[in-house]
Amino acid sequence: MADSVNALPFFYGNITREEAEGYLRQTGLSNGLYLLRQSRNYLGGFALSVSHTGRIYHYTIERKPNETYAIAGGKSHRTPMDVIDYHSQEMDGLVSLLKKPCNRPKNMQPKVGPFEDLKEKLIREYVMQTWNLQGAVLEQAIISQRPQLEKLIATTAHERMPWFHGAITREDSESRLQGGPRINGKFLIRQRDQNGSYALCLLHEGQVMHYRIDRDRHGKISIPDGKKFDTLWQLVEHYSYKPDGLLRVLTEPSPRPDGETVQIGRSHAGLPHSIVSCQSLHLCSRESQQDSNPYSTRVAGNQAASKEAMPMDTEVYESPYADPDELRSSTVDRNQLFLEDEELGSGNFGTVKKGIYRMRKTQKQVAVKILKNDGNNPAIREEMLREADVMQQLDNPYIVRMIGICDAEDLMLVMELAELGPLNKFLQKNKSTSIKNITELVHQVSMGMKYLEEHNFVHRDLAARNVLLVTQHYAKISDFGLSKAIAEENNYYKATVHGKWPVKWYAPECINYFKFSSKSDVWSFGVLMWEAFSYGQKPYKGMKGNDVMHMIESGKRMDPPVNCPPEMSDIMLACWTYKVDERPAFSVVEPRLREYYYDIAAQ
Ligand code: AMP
Repeated sequence: MADSVNALPFFYGNITREEAEGYLRQTGLSNGLYLLRQSRNYLGGFALSVSHTGRIYHYTIERKPNETYAIAGGKSHRTPMDVIDYHSQEMDGLVSLLKKPCNRPKNMQPKVGPFEDLKEKLIREYVMQTWNLQGAVLEQAIISQRPQLEKLIATTAHERMPWFHGAITREDSESRLQGGPRINGKFLIRQRDQNGSYALCLLHEGQVMHYRIDRDRHGKISIPDGKKFDTLWQLVEHYSYKPDGLLRVLTEPSPRPDGETVQIGRSHAGLPHSIVSCQSLHLCSRESQQDSNPYSTRVAGNQAASKEAMPMDTEVYESPYADPDELRSSTVDRNQLFLEDEELGSGNFGTVKKGIYRMRKTQKQVAVKILKNDGNNPAIREEMLREADVMQQLDNPYIVRMIGICDAEDLMLVMELAELGPLNKFLQKNKSTSIKNITELVHQVSMGMKYLEEHNFVHRDLAARNVLLVTQHYAKISDFGLSKAIAEENNYYKATVHGKWPVKWYAPECINYFKFSSKSDVWSFGVLMWEAFSYGQKPYKGMKGNDVMHMIESGKRMDPPVNCPPEMSDIMLACWTYKVDERPAFSVVEPRLREYYYDIAAQ
């Protein structure tokens, strides 16, 4: 939601009422001139400022618990834009119809609130320090794991705030607030004990008021009988906008004495379990960085945490060659490769076995695709070398990377290991996987596909069977046997002959004209989404390839899977747009999936 509102030219973000009035005045104060801004009273709400007969009126657009928006007491709408559209037709209580948007001055972006800005900085620092990431993989980590990272940051961000004074006494808090200018609303927060209890200390007419902040058994904090929050900084944000039971709003943080670092009695009682688990997990994996990591004084490791692991916690998030001490080479030394008996699966070429590859500094678990030794059929050998050639050019966290080729007793393709295997089989066996989890995984696939699209590769065999899971929360695209690099000029690959094709995953232009592009991968991605949200069922069940083609040509599409969220089935249908030019690219599909994932993951 926030993203789509941000795109409106008349949305100004977190500006004050006075600033809003300034912009409307500059633009001429005509009747019905309006702008939209973020509400400073209601979290998640907006404010509408409208001019009429030389005066300016401000209306709050509240966000209701059922995620609809309405001007206080007015009709509910699905989005803030719908509220504006409605009031450009109907006054319904407003002083005027909304006639003309007052657009932001050129080059001005919507203003980001101080907490939003800080949050961005903290997330970035956290990911850099915890996993030692930089560049594209850092950005990808933030995009794919933002909801989890936000929750993680939320519980520690207050320690960076000027108003948080740590475990000081009541007397100390009073002398700090009485010192310096005695501004009404000056405030600080101190820690009362180690069980998540704090006090909000507020200067009012020369006196310091102390409000207890307690944590309930669900981990929520509140002042007695007050609104509940997940974090201290949300609480401060709220009472900075609205007194809501306090004697006055919070105005100015009382600064900490120069150079003082916050003393914090550490205890994680009351923190949501998942947050504690993630933090302990990071510690286990990166103990050596403990000193440089400001978040690292955490509780001891916890094995049960592994199911909460983020992609960055695994050894296959970054390329095995990301470490400059590991020489990148496309050949693997047979003496350093140890095959296990365990077979992970089998495919066209032969078997895939688990193994260990000893590198210079580390050793890695790997998957090894072993070519069937049938007199070394040169055609199959060529095919496998072509697959290796494509894989070698790709480096993305959401794509199975090739580690190298090993030409020994058999020809072997050594790859990163994705031990939980194909997505369709995993979901068939794990029917209790949540919609949020499935959305997280398909979003990761869309990130990997967006990378392929940007690098002019077509996959041509995108299907749930070719998405492999590293963990329940980490998917990688695999099987580049049919993939092709495409010339930038014509952006498609033209097959010369019809092969053994997965037609149920293929777009009409692939079947009719043998034309393959990233847009035809988008079609396949729609089928993959259908498979994922139907827990690994076969698409077009019981139908022959020909029947499927007729069905598509006649304009029909598969029904959405049972219990599939409409936002997701809408994306599937968009992926199955008949005309290539009208079908969205991955650059459009990925942010749409991302938006829905963030929406449901934040709840
Ligand atoms: P493929 O020949 O690429 O279709 O692979 C056949 C099967 O081997 C897959 O369905 C997986 O079960 C398994 N497999 C292939 N690559 C990997 C990998 N990198 N990690 C784990 N299992 C794999």
